[in-house]
Amino acid sequence: MDKNAKIFVAGRRGLAGSALVRRLRAAGYDNLLLPARAELDLTRQAETTGFLGREKPDYVFLAAGRVGGIAANSGFKAEFLYQNLMIEANVVHAAWLAGVNRLLFLGSSCIYPRDCPQPIREEYLLTGPLEVTNDAYAIAKIAGLKMCESYNRQYGTAYVSVMPANLYGPNDNYDPETGHVLPALIRKAHEAKVSGREELAVWGTGGPRREFLHADDLAAACVFLMEREDIRSGTFNVGTGKDISIRELAELIARTVGFSGKIVLDPSRPDGTPRKLLDAGKIAALGWRPSIGLAAGLGRTYADFLAGGRA
Ligand code: GDP
Repeated sequence: MDKNAKIFVAGRRGLAGSALVRRLRAAGYDNLLLPARAELDLTRQAETTGFLGREKPDYVFLAAGRVGGIAANSGFKAEFLYQNLMIEANVVHAAWLAGVNRLLFLGSSCIYPRDCPQPIREEYLLTGPLEVTNDAYAIAKIAGLKMCESYNRQYGTAYVSVMPANLYGPNDNYDPETGHVLPALIRKAHEAKVSGREELAVWGTGGPRREFLHADDLAAACVFLMEREDIRSGTFNVGTGKDISIRELAELIARTVGFSGKIVLDPSRPDGTPRKLLDAGKIAALGWRPSIGLAAGLGRTYADFLAGGRA
């Protein structure tokens, strides 16, 4: 990637998109296209086609999408499916129309079958049924990945897909109901500590295992792949290679936040997928490795939360 290349980051305000902007700027890429949502609604085809046709970026990072934790994913399936499909269809197609040759599409580890062998390799996609709590979101993300593959095959573009483990970091959604487990528990543990409550409510059995990846590591991996002009297609898992149980995560968060009360499980809430540990051997073979461990990343994230939840 040339340092003067015109780069469009779709979803610049989100967890992944804001990390990408930080990473790109730190690496000296200054010609970034970062339209505000009021200027460009990616669910609208004409707006998206007009924007990309006018601007003709050299590179597109597609980090825009409707995201949320297990409750939001299962409670708003129609919105998750509709909005993510619209954004992907509009951006990928408009990018191709505008002559964009390189695009990186961000998906999620939930695209893989619920009960697939661990750690999960890229080729396990579509080998079994999906987890029901996030199947609508997963179907939309699988469609996005297939768009990249199909445009490459039919039109000769170089669109790649990245599937990250559960992300966390600055600009996360700390809402206790709609957020993912890590930011939700940071907020709940912090509020329990501040108000002197004895108990921290943790959904489900505490048994499911999750792999957490700091958004800055994801952004580094994405820029690494985009800078490799020889990487012209494919799906790449990005993770740390380590997972922990939700109960262990709750204990780690309690220690980080300084909450010393009791962790109380609420089995009336769903567990979701039992485990989704990614095999990130494919990107590791190219020479990329994550650098932020969970304990250090959590410390940074709690500091960000205390600072107002924004980077
Ligand atoms: P998932 O990885 O798609 O299942 O999404 P989440 O990050 O929302 O949830 C991960 C796991 O954490 C699930 O087993 C949840 O039941 C569990 N969990 C425990 N407490 C919470 C909480 O307060 N919020 C959320 N979102 N999940 C929680």
